[in-house]
Amino acid sequence: MRVINPNFESKLIKYGVDSSNMCFNCGTCSAICPLFEHGFPRRFMRYVQIGAEDEILKSKMEIFKCLHCGLCTSSCPRGASPGEVMLGLKRFVLDKMRRDVNV
Ligand code: SF4
Ligand code: SF4
Repeated sequence: MRVINPNFESKLIKYGVDSSNMCFNCGTCSAICPLFEHGFPRRFMRYVQIGAEDEILKSKMEIFKCLHCGLCTSSCPRGASPGEVMLGLKRFVLDKMRRDVNV
């Protein structure tokens, strides 16, 4: 069952994710991303928008494949900065893992 967290976007602000609401899912970033992964990084933009925190955590190893080449951010017509969102998601995942270990 998919769990939706309606506060997920605001929760991510402290990790530097503050532009995902600008995304209108055009797919330009996925077309230019050198990883050729399914829907990468647009899929993660959508996950953030709909609050699919569980999907982000399930895909944590995939998130770390991002090369931070910046092609997605420079080609985004909405200024949604998908490359920076991916970086922020890495920070979020690492912080979650650190907190889980300390519990
Ligand atoms: S992040 Fe930008 S390029 Fe990618 S789907 Fe959203 S609006 Fe389009
Ligand atoms: S920054 Fe990451 S998500 Fe964006 S195009 Fe490069 S590898 Fe793909």
